[in-house]
Amino acid sequence: DKGLAVFTSGGDSQGMNAAVRACVRMAIYLGCKVYFIREGYQGMVDGGDCIQEANWASVSSIIHRGGTIIGSARCQDFRERQGRLKAANNLIQRGITNLVVIGGDGSLTGANLFRQEWSSLLDELVKNKTITTEQQEKFNVLHIVGLVGSIDNDFCGTDMTIGTDTALHRIIEAIDAISSTAYSHQRTFIMEVMGRHCGYLALVGGLACEADFIFIPEMPPKVDWPDRLCSQLAQERSAGQRLNIVIVAEGAMDREGHPITAEDVKKVIDERLKHDARITVLGHVQRGGNPSAFDRILACRMGAEATLALMEATKDSVPVVISLDGNQAVRVPLMECVERTQAVAKAMAEKRWADAVKLRGRS
Ligand code: ADP
Repeated sequence: DKGLAVFTSGGDSQGMNAAVRACVRMAIYLGCKVYFIREGYQGMVDGGDCIQEANWASVSSIIHRGGTIIGSARCQDFRERQGRLKAANNLIQRGITNLVVIGGDGSLTGANLFRQEWSSLLDELVKNKTITTEQQEKFNVLHIVGLVGSIDNDFCGTDMTIGTDTALHRIIEAIDAISSTAYSHQRTFIMEVMGRHCGYLALVGGLACEADFIFIPEMPPKVDWPDRLCSQLAQERSAGQRLNIVIVAEGAMDREGHPITAEDVKKVIDERLKHDARITVLGHVQRGGNPSAFDRILACRMGAEATLALMEATKDSVPVVISLDGNQAVRVPLMECVERTQAVAKAMAEKRWADAVKLRGRS
């Protein structure tokens, strides 16, 4: 009689459906009553039809679909205690005390906060006479397990996040397609790929497609990058190469903190090398399409493990994230990973700032 609900939150990524399917089916297999929460935390706060019981058939034929069939949203209400109070009541009324949250670090942080507050939310609901003391006693612990859905592979604690592999496929398909036309016309293509804080997609996509130059936020080049770029591209051409590929991650910048955009790169190439240079911004194509085999299987394994972790949780266990460690699906403490992820982002921003101040101060 354990009520379990699964929802997707924040930015979508390919493979989320496969994860939902695995959670639902493992839960049914283990004898749980299982629910979808539509539209992420917004559905949890709104209740009503947004929280629906799922069955074996309701997750049929979704493993291959991109995005998330149960919807995702960004929800301001859940950031406020009043919103979380409504969400808690909606869960209690359905007997749900187990949650699988599939999202990025924001969604997981929200889930952790919700769990920490759970008993005080229940106290308030009893005080308001919204729930009974029997309900409070019966549902006094909320168990949470997180799965990381993100195309950026930007989460500490897991080797791969759900969606990254598919996004890489979209990138390499696009670069391969563009390479053939670039070859015909001896062009230089500048590809902008996603990754505001994390250059994983740009770096790995570049390796897989023999890019000539890659700009990522983690390794800002010196301000003389135009010289290095041009000499590299010129050298490739003089060695007989008919095309050049340059990849720019969204968050790329130089060591002084100036953003480097695809337009900046094109301007340099146009002016100095007089190449026929074109820009392609891949944008949401990277989030689209069917998940790769790797993402489907990763999400299946993680979804099943998430349900198992919830069923094995005791009142003292900490919320966990299901991570990929080598080839194993493992359980790691949720808040430790979120804190490390946020600390890495903060340290990177501080380092960039310090470098920028130092270098600008010198010139
Ligand atoms: P992601 O999960 O992809 O990082 P967001 O950071 O936008 O995306 O978070 C998704 C949702 O999670 C937010 O719209 C909000 O409802 C909830 N959330 C995020 N951070 C918090 C927080 N500190 N407290 C409560 N809820 C949060």
